[in-house]
Amino acid sequence: TKFSDLNLDPKVLKAVADTGYETPTPIQAGAIPPALEGRDVLGIAQTGTGKTASFTLPMISMLARGRARARMPRSLVLCPTRELAAQVAENFDAYAKYVKLNKALLIGGVSFKEQEAVINRGADVLIATPGRLLDHFERGKLLLTGVQIMVVDEADRMLDMGFIPDIERIFSLTPFTRQTLFFSATMAPEIERITNTFLSNPARIEV
Ligand code: AMP
Repeated sequence: TKFSDLNLDPKVLKAVADTGYETPTPIQAGAIPPALEGRDVLGIAQTGTGKTASFTLPMISMLARGRARARMPRSLVLCPTRELAAQVAENFDAYAKYVKLNKALLIGGVSFKEQEAVINRGADVLIATPGRLLDHFERGKLLLTGVQIMVVDEADRMLDMGFIPDIERIFSLTPFTRQTLFFSATMAPEIERITNTFLSNPARIEV
């Protein structure tokens, strides 16, 4: 498989070419086609397999069409830690450099005001830790009823850190019709339960 066989937006392909990646990794080759078809994806993959691009590239391709409305983000990426969220945001920026998108990084240690300003303008994507996202929600600063794509990254670490109730709450605040891309290094019974509850006929890719 080549990146150009994957139906990605031409602007995303151009950004990928700039990174120097030659071929998609197995998780990318497996997850990107069903994600672009709008299917839910369950990716079982460790860090280092290229999983970040396997969800950011199809997300950006889809977000390239349409525009966000004020206080109604179009997509979410949930990460267990600030560091991981910042890393995903950095990757996102690199792959979205030819697409004009509004992105907010919602993590602790950054002022609410700055994050709110982006949300108010209409965020295409929120890259967030679950607690910080819910803080914004509780403050009445955003609605999650416009979310079309939701990513959960490193679900097994979310479980270790006690974030599963937050994740379930966030799932329940987003529309039934959303597309979900869900990644975990392992499939603990609690993770299996969540995916059975919130994913709909997912393409399961294990690398
Ligand atoms: P990740 O598993 O998402 O943390 O990615 C691990 C590393 O692989 C990162 O440094 C990426 O920049 C790199 N990477 C992702 N996709 C590819 C690819 N198709 N070819 C070469 N390197 C890649």
